[in-house]
Amino acid sequence: LFFNIFVEREALTDRFRTVARIVAVALIVFGFLNAFGGLFNATVVDTIFNLLLIGGVVTVATGCARAIVRGSRSARFYLLAWALPLLILALRILANFGLARGGETLDQATFAAMALQAVLLSIGIGDRFRGLQAERDAAARALGEAEAESEAMRILAETDTLTGLYNRRGFVARAPELIGRHGMLALIDLDHFKAINDSYGHDVGDVVLMRVAETLKNIAGDQGIAGRLGGEEFGIIGPLACGEAARVAVAALDMTDILGPGRTLTVSVGVATGATAYERFYVAADRALYRAKEEGRNRVIVTGTEDRPVRLVRSNAVPV
Ligand code: GH3
Ligand code: MG
Ligand code: MG
Repeated sequence: LFFNIFVEREALTDRFRTVARIVAVALIVFGFLNAFGGLFNATVVDTIFNLLLIGGVVTVATGCARAIVRGSRSARFYLLAWALPLLILALRILANFGLARGGETLDQATFAAMALQAVLLSIGIGDRFRGLQAERDAAARALGEAEAESEAMRILAETDTLTGLYNRRGFVARAPELIGRHGMLALIDLDHFKAINDSYGHDVGDVVLMRVAETLKNIAGDQGIAGRLGGEEFGIIGPLACGEAARVAVAALDMTDILGPGRTLTVSVGVATGATAYERFYVAADRALYRAKEEGRNRVIVTGTEDRPVRLVRSNAVPV
């Protein structure tokens, strides 16, 4: 019974454990009968008990061997702890059958073997305990790594690879909370960006997008948020002034190194203000952006969301 508990669960089959349990229970029963049973034929009971003892030894020895083959550390400790007592037990059984000499030496050896066994089994239990701790630590580490990995995956899924800004998904995930605080959404679209790609190539276009992204990120600051919502369209949630600040800052960017002298970049901005759901902000800001494009680009148009009276505020009304 002890062997069943002592050895790692995966080192023994269920069938073996059942057999071992039956043998152990039979041993206990016949042990009692042997000790107290005046009712039965003493010689028969004694013989059965001795045969069961041999059966027990064989069962445990088989289990031990199998467990060791399966790589069980506990079984090795068990074998070590039982080696001497088993030897003495074998001698005792032989003595019981009259095949070896018993006597005092055997009794003393039994005590010594039991003491040694207790020490070895204690060490075995300590070792198993440490093994379990190591397993638990490894499991905790694996869990931590899995969490870190899924966190990394989440960040990756919400980040635009070109600019490092939040992508649409990351932006939208944070929008409701931030829009509640600022009551403003600005949609910013680069003017005639296709012409830049056409004249300078896609790579230069990418650099332009990265520079604009950095500028917008600085404008949004710690309190706000900037994201790339699509190709050359960006969004900012932050203080109301962010829309016009974005237009001025992008226009002021020095692109001489990639676009040559005299070529500036402009953006059109649609701003929605109000106190409603993000989706409504988006619809209103998109409409304002469309008007900004229509009215000549390089301008900001501010509008209210649907639940507020619409007011239009224009900046830079001079067409470029
Ligand atoms: P408008 O002023 O009306 O906004 O004109 P536009 O040319 O900026 O707008 P349009 O929608 O016609 O073209 C957008 C261009 O943006 C077309 C597309 O090739 C380019 N674009 C989208 N994503 C990227 C990107 O990741 N890198 C580069 N280099 N170009 C991109
Ligand atoms: Mg554009
Ligand atoms: Mg666009």
